[in-house]
Amino acid sequence: MANIVAIVGRPNVGKSTLFNRLVEQRMAITDNESGVTRDRHYGESVWTEKYFTVIDTGGYVVGSEDTFEGAIRDQVAMALDEATVVLFVVDTMTGLIDLDNDFANVLRRSKKPIIVVANKAETFERQSLVAPEFYSLGMGEVFPISSTDGSGTGELLDEVVKHFEDDGIENPDDGIPRISILGRPNSGKSSFLNALLGKDRSIVTDIAGTTRDSIDTHYKLYGNHFILTDTAGIRKKAKVQESIEFYSVLRSLKAMENSQVCIILLDAERGLESQDMHIIAHAHNAKKGIVIMMNKWDLIEKSSKTSDQMKKEILERLAPMNYMPMIFASALNKQRIFQVIEKAMEVYENRSMKISTSKINDVMLPIIAHTPPPAVKGKYIRIKYVMQLPTPSPTFVFFCNLPQYIREAYERFLKNKLRENFGFEGSTITVLFRKK
Ligand code: GDP
Ligand code: GDP
Repeated sequence: MANIVAIVGRPNVGKSTLFNRLVEQRMAITDNESGVTRDRHYGESVWTEKYFTVIDTGGYVVGSEDTFEGAIRDQVAMALDEATVVLFVVDTMTGLIDLDNDFANVLRRSKKPIIVVANKAETFERQSLVAPEFYSLGMGEVFPISSTDGSGTGELLDEVVKHFEDDGIENPDDGIPRISILGRPNSGKSSFLNALLGKDRSIVTDIAGTTRDSIDTHYKLYGNHFILTDTAGIRKKAKVQESIEFYSVLRSLKAMENSQVCIILLDAERGLESQDMHIIAHAHNAKKGIVIMMNKWDLIEKSSKTSDQMKKEILERLAPMNYMPMIFASALNKQRIFQVIEKAMEVYENRSMKISTSKINDVMLPIIAHTPPPAVKGKYIRIKYVMQLPTPSPTFVFFCNLPQYIREAYERFLKNKLRENFGFEGSTITVLFRKK
């Protein structure tokens, strides 16, 4: 299950500063492929080996004087609905003000764990004299922190991760491929699902998903058993456009979490837009297998070259996330819809493919000998051997004398060679360098 930490609070208390701090800290310690679109309001973070998604709800509220109360309710409702833990941020420079109480009143009605975060507490005075003021909110312990210098965030995160759901819970469906169907509203997710389920009647069971925001359907196609998780058909009333996007991205995140492969629908008439990029980037960052379904292909006036051109153009824009297959389909006409599923199963296989150490070395060492990493400051980098790790998505470790000197361009070169020689279509490849 995805652990989601939502940051709420009135404007200017430092929500986005805190968000950036939590998200950056992860970027510093994990490998990150360059060029990936970063979403301003969602980010991945990790603390003591527990991974979680952070949401800055502030960005989703367009508050003007008269809609402000409504905006508060929207922001809080979203956070309470979706979050595992809510961080209620207040400001020790201003102390407690009425607007904080308004937030607190709405928050108090919920059963979600709420942690009061007293931000901007860099000085002794704010930390020891002002922060305790917030105990009067009656919402339990107050955590003084400074988002700008990071002090107190360790204690805060220790508390946050205590509330996470145990990720050791056994999944009864383990071993069965899970495929999630993602895409922004109106991309055709429901139509796709109806087309699939309507034609093939071999649904095994129909059960409500682990969250009410997604539906799991067990499905059998040509002897393959898999589970589709979809978020289609669930609509929420949202006052502002931002909330609609907020919900659709969040639902996607949740559905994605438990699946190995994501089918991401694009609307052929609209092409690739920023919201689609966000969904793709999330799936990529979560190292899920990806198939792109270019839906509504029936609406496009085309020649024999149109799909090739469109594919090329889109994959160029997605670089370096351009390893995924793309199928041009129509949920309406049921054109190539089964091909999409078959492709997803193929990507599932690609993503879990394991290559023996001897085979990788036989292939990669001659390539490396022919094109070694460029010397840095007169030092030669020698890669001695390679192995694949037993991780869910393909990860390769290259053992070498000076791992810190390997440049991104060379890392890309190795990834391309791994792909050329072994496949992995639709799956990210992670490459690590370790000292040996
Ligand atoms: P948001 O509206 O709640 O997202 O608040 P922002 O993150 O945009 O921060 C509002 C202002 O407070 C900015 O000028 C920040 O630089 C400042 N700020 C945020 N966190 C801290 C902090 O820990 N200490 C201090 N002194 N200023 C902060
Ligand atoms: P969802 O919000 O992603 O579940 O999208 P829907 O399945 O509700 O589809 C949104 C709209 O697009 C509906 O009016 C569908 O009839 C239409 N639609 C979906 N797939 C196709 C397609 O392949 N071709 C055409 N022409 N329309 C489609």
